[in-house]
Amino acid sequence: MTTSEVPFRILPKLTERNAHFWQGGRDGELRFQRCQDCGYYLHPPAVICPRDWSRNIGIEAVSGRAEVLAYSVNHQASSRRSCSRSWAASSRTTCASPPTS
Ligand SMILES: [Zn+2]
Repeated sequence: MTTSEVPFRILPKLTERNAHFWQGGRDGELRFQRCQDCGYYLHPPAVICPRDWSRNIGIEAVSGRAEVLAYSVNHQASSRRSCSRSWAASSRTTCASPPTS
């Protein structure tokens, strides 16, 4: 694959709330927010736990092992002048277990 064949990707805008997730790969970790009161994993990132309304949210690395329940493929025009398309996929998991050592 040549450089011109590498798909163009728009990088996400890093914020204080999402940097742990996007930069975790650089450090070899999959990181999610987790409610420190009830243990619920939050994704996408949020400021409050949807389960118990706690604001006691921490960042934790997980193993990456989980069961995929569903996924979506989103198509988006790469520019207003072009009909070419790019795609992204996401998945949702049943749980995110702590990393094993
Ligand atoms: Zn909670």
